[in-house]
Amino acid sequence: MTPTTTPDLQIRGEVLSAGDPGFDETAAIWDGRHGQRPALIARCLGAADVRRAIRYARQNNLEISVRCGGHNPNDYAINDGGIVLDLRLMNSVQVDPVARRARVAGGALAGDVVREAAEFGLVPVTGMLPAIGFCGIALNGGEGFFSHRYGMVCDSIVGATLVTADGELIRCSPDERPELLWGMRGAGPNFGVVTEIEIALYDLPDSVLAGMITWTPTPEQLPGFLASLLSTLQATSDDLYPVMIIGTDETGAAYVAVALCHIGAADEAEAEITTIRAMATATDDTIARAPYLDAVNALNVDIDEAAGFVDGLCRRWTDYELTGSSETFGAVVAANIDRLLTDPELPASISLVVEGKHLNNTLGTPAKHRDGPAVMIEAGWRGTEHTARFTAVTDDMNAALRAGGVISSVSGNIHSISDVTSDIVVENYGPETYQRLAELKAAYDPENIFHLNYNIEPAGPKASNRLPEEDTK
Ligand SMILES: Cc1cc2nc3c(=O)[nH]c(=O)nc-3n(C[C@H](O)[C@H](O)[C@H](O)COP(=O)(O)OP(=O)(O)OC[C@H]3O[C@@H](n4cnc5c(N)ncnc54)[C@H](O)[C@@H]3O)c2cc1C
Repeated sequence: MTPTTTPDLQIRGEVLSAGDPGFDETAAIWDGRHGQRPALIARCLGAADVRRAIRYARQNNLEISVRCGGHNPNDYAINDGGIVLDLRLMNSVQVDPVARRARVAGGALAGDVVREAAEFGLVPVTGMLPAIGFCGIALNGGEGFFSHRYGMVCDSIVGATLVTADGELIRCSPDERPELLWGMRGAGPNFGVVTEIEIALYDLPDSVLAGMITWTPTPEQLPGFLASLLSTLQATSDDLYPVMIIGTDETGAAYVAVALCHIGAADEAEAEITTIRAMATATDDTIARAPYLDAVNALNVDIDEAAGFVDGLCRRWTDYELTGSSETFGAVVAANIDRLLTDPELPASISLVVEGKHLNNTLGTPAKHRDGPAVMIEAGWRGTEHTARFTAVTDDMNAALRAGGVISSVSGNIHSISDVTSDIVVENYGPETYQRLAELKAAYDPENIFHLNYNIEPAGPKASNRLPEEDTK
């Protein structure tokens, strides 16, 4: 790449200013609601570029966004009039097959890590979509097909290298700044720009049983069907990661789909899928045994279609923990099914997604580990003029689910929530964990330079005195 020079910012990568060819495409993020336009995009190639860009931003008092995959349902990866540190050119993944670890550069995508590890018979814990930023998911929590067996994505982080707000390049690991490593596992973007994380990898099964099965129950069948499906999915083993997608088609008829991946032994997988298949006659069934990469690629096409994951639509996602019985879930969701929609003309869709099961927090990381499945409402539509309408519809649906005893009042996975406020951040981490993170934030970013994230406000000025000695700078 030809070194690019602006009057002030010189980096090895590329600097784009508003108006440059390719600027708008490079600035675009997955959620099309926001329409913000930064002044500069620094497409960094390494830690030196990151340092220079941070220094430049601070000297010129510019807002800083850090961009990996750009798939967060908030607008953190973009800002108005500031600078975006776009890390996507830093996408190397280096697998150590003996140590069963990978060093993942700050801008690599989930699909990059999965493909590289698969070559060595290994797999990372990561989310389902290959286009999600790996650091974007790992540093904020994250879960996917291997999470019930191996934990959340952040649980696999064993080290990180980052550039701090004052431009220092530092590392954390179990032996070096262990408190910072703890913070990286769920609140990472608060402490600096991560140029590389090191993660644990796991055995890649020879093949998996995966795909999507879809039913179209009648209105009379719907409450009972939803109740038994939820109970059946909750009773499956930790080798099965299920995602239930409930929606209505353009005629208003309900459909219920389950996208799943079973990572366990073939006979156990067959037995579990047979139980699910036996629930009712499916209208579509793509579940088949295949090598993992083929299976997830095919499954992502199915999920994209069922959940309307088109890039650039306006989005509003909410996420709460399931409460109450399966019968309550079936009855209340069926009674509110008319609030879901598919409108191919606008286009727009609102679907209800029930993801995963419980998540154990064996390492005590900051990321919220749920006691039960996540109940998400995923709305997508074209045209910012419809934002108020779709926001109101998702809020009304959540109010109906809460009044019916289906969801908790506390938000679920923070990495899948739009319109996050500071109250939601405190609530999500919980007061004790938040306070511990605030002390860490005060030690590494006391001026809150990195605040376009699930932001932790720095604790008072003496906070760094309370950090373990090896963590203080
Ligand atoms: C279609 C879709 C499917 C999804 N599927 C799943 C799923 O299966 N499982 C799941 O758990 N989540 C899923 N998510 C949620 C997603 O994982 C999170 O929103 C994640 O934060 C997105 O990361 P990103 O890098 O793509 O986004 P970005 O917006 O680029 O980054 C997200 C946040 O992390 C910060 N960040 C990113 N990289 C760095 C870095 N190197 N250093 C410092 N800060 C950094 C950014 O500044 C920002 O605050 C999905 C989201 C979408 C839109």
